[in-house]
Amino acid sequence: MVSAPDSCKMWTDPTAETLAPGKAYVLVEVLSESSHHARRIVRCTCCGFHWLQDYSDAIDWDNGDDPSWQTFAPAGDLEAARALHRAHPEGTLGAPCITADWPTGAARKIIRRFPPIDASGGLR
Ligand SMILES: [Zn+2]
Repeated sequence: MVSAPDSCKMWTDPTAETLAPGKAYVLVEVLSESSHHARRIVRCTCCGFHWLQDYSDAIDWDNGDDPSWQTFAPAGDLEAARALHRAHPEGTLGAPCITADWPTGAARKIIRRFPPIDASGGLR
């Protein structure tokens, strides 16, 4: 996995605004797409950093409040994003990443996930 980009606003300040499609990032390439799942390469509009995005949604037949789930994994440039895609099948992106969940009838939840700290050199 690529390190988290300390200069990218999508990583340093992930909010509904900084993760808004078309504003915060633009679509670069669709790698796979079905009715409720997609894997895409997107690019931050501020700094040009590329992210691999897994997107899923469902239909809320009762209220039209469709839930969705997204994971953004830092990639770097376009080739790095394609390589990350080849190395990680859809749904297997791990930390570092940002998850953005929009559940039906509940508050939006955006979480930055960090990789585990390597404590192998620590106390035993
Ligand atoms: Zn950025």
